[in-house]
Amino acid sequence: MAGRADGGPLSIQGEHERDTNAPVLMDLAEVDQYVDSSSDEVLACRERGRHIFPSIRQSGISFIDVTDDGLLVRQLLCTCCQLAQRVELWETTGRGRATRYVPVSATINYLRGPNGERYLGPQGHGRMTPKMVRNSLASQALHGKSAATIRKEAKQLAQKQAQQTQSIRSQTNH
Ligand SMILES: [Zn+2]
Repeated sequence: MAGRADGGPLSIQGEHERDTNAPVLMDLAEVDQYVDSSSDEVLACRERGRHIFPSIRQSGISFIDVTDDGLLVRQLLCTCCQLAQRVELWETTGRGRATRYVPVSATINYLRGPNGERYLGPQGHGRMTPKMVRNSLASQALHGKSAATIRKEAKQLAQKQAQQTQSIRSQTNH
């Protein structure tokens, strides 16, 4: 059986947890820096907290190699960031028409993009969570407006929606 050499699955955002000397979480200023220097696609995966790999129905299934112990190797690239490669190992059970294909493990490798793009943050600086990335993205997007203005606008929108709902109700009551 193939297993993970590093003992147990890690979340895709948890690469740096392997380094025991690293701080647990990345500094928010560093997350801001990462956000500034990353592509929209990388940030979409970071914000979502997971990559998007094509489904078997969408992309079919084929294998690119066989391990020494007979496991089939499948390779998939994230359709969003294109920097995360999932390597799956599959085993077969049964014979002939009763053959089953069973996924046994999956690991993620991070590739460098053609222009040097990276998915991983600087090593040894702790990990960044999807929450931190959303914090950074939202704070940047809303920068320049006061929180009081944002609140006011949100309230106005809520009132408008309530009015619209009421008018729909009164229309359907006729
Ligand atoms: Zn991705």
